[in-house]
Amino acid sequence: MKQPRALKVPLAATISAALMATLLPLAPANAAPTATSTTEIAQTVSVDSAVQIAAKKIQRNPSKTDVFVNKKYPLSPKKYAPKTVAVKGTNVRLKSSAATAYSKMVKAAAKDGVHIRAVSGYRSYARQAELYNYYTRIYGQSYASKISAVPGTSEHQTGLAIDVGNRNSECGLQACFANTPVGKWVAKNAHKYGFILRYPKGQESVTGYSYEPWHFRYLGTSLAKSYKNSGAKTLEAYYGVAGSKSKDTSTKKSKGTAKTTANLNMRSGAGTNNRVLLTIPRGKSVQLTGSKKSGWYEVRYSSKTGWVSGKYLSNVSMPSTPKKKESSKDNKSKSTQAKSAKTTANLNMRAGVGTGHRVVLTIPRGKQVTITGSKKSGWYPVKYSGKSGWVSGQYLNNFSNSAPKSNSQKQKSSPKSSTKKTVANLNMRSGAGTNHRVVLTIPKGKKVTLTGSKKSGWYEVKYSSKTGWVSGKYLR
Ligand SMILES: [Zn+2]
Repeated sequence: MKQPRALKVPLAATISAALMATLLPLAPANAAPTATSTTEIAQTVSVDSAVQIAAKKIQRNPSKTDVFVNKKYPLSPKKYAPKTVAVKGTNVRLKSSAATAYSKMVKAAAKDGVHIRAVSGYRSYARQAELYNYYTRIYGQSYASKISAVPGTSEHQTGLAIDVGNRNSECGLQACFANTPVGKWVAKNAHKYGFILRYPKGQESVTGYSYEPWHFRYLGTSLAKSYKNSGAKTLEAYYGVAGSKSKDTSTKKSKGTAKTTANLNMRSGAGTNNRVLLTIPRGKSVQLTGSKKSGWYEVRYSSKTGWVSGKYLSNVSMPSTPKKKESSKDNKSKSTQAKSAKTTANLNMRAGVGTGHRVVLTIPRGKQVTITGSKKSGWYPVKYSGKSGWVSGQYLNNFSNSAPKSNSQKQKSSPKSSTKKTVANLNMRSGAGTNHRVVLTIPKGKKVTLTGSKKSGWYEVKYSSKTGWVSGKYLR
């Protein structure tokens, strides 16, 4: 579970500056709290199917090293507070057994030339409540619960969990931490010192948390070894219990999803001899229609349907019944969908769906935004102040079917909205310039709609329900 690293969004009075200071141990130069690409989790694997190992006795006594804690198994008493000690040379606190083991691990890593930094250890119920409330306010409850624990359910409250990092904070509390020296070392060696990686990749629907390559749980060496040897992918599987809230999984159970592990061509048929419809950026969540053919999956992404190679999909979860009706439903909702809404908080507009994406700008609270397309996992594509991006729907209200006055004329009546054709496979980016993130690649020969914004040779365009910037060099 992570702590916010820095905040762009001004905080309401409920969190004092002093409190925030304690919440921000790293204080980096970066923008708003960055989550990882794992924000687009396929929450669709049913918990039961992920649980294969026969039930073991589950320790609920929080003072025991093998206490089991997750969303379904909160600490009891809720406000349990262990006796902790400061980890040698840090302000991070752990139970003494965990602190001793941790120091041993740090020493061993140092011998290998790897320098582990303790980022966060014991957190009290009250501190966890502050964190959780903070995240809920910024991201909404659904996302907050994937990156932060509801107070009383955090492993950090046991004094047996620690978040680790590199000395230079490289990829701190981000999925890319896994590829840093410390990330690699702990993944390989932590169990020897009694720690296990608690929230592994691809197990989000079981653990209920995004992949956290930095979060380690102390179990003691013998249990850690037994866990490792069992081959279980999660502690939930090891004990044979459900993890994440059934609420999360049941609602979407029938909907198939998967995630792209590379920039992936969606083609008109199953096989590379078929035409490329669009390139789905890496790390995106796609919807599976249920059709599969010689290793290729039919998927929906960005309002297109086509085929992708299964080699580049992870977290594949096929729908329980192929949903043919989905598209007509989508179309219907599109036609009746709201065209504008108001922000209920200072709200980050991001380059994509999810907090893993770059903040384009922060929209002040109470502003009207134009909704430019369909909602996706709770996020809306919006236009504000000449910029386009995505915002969490949690902080929008007053949805209205009429577009805001100023923008509506420009967008609706089309004297200004002209179209151009791409003369090459052309990257659409989140801003005007190649330093911006690629939103998608528009195939050569496609028609794009110009929004009317132009900046140093780049045009803002709409294509396939996305809005972004392309170099004017490749438009005719
Ligand atoms: Zn953690």
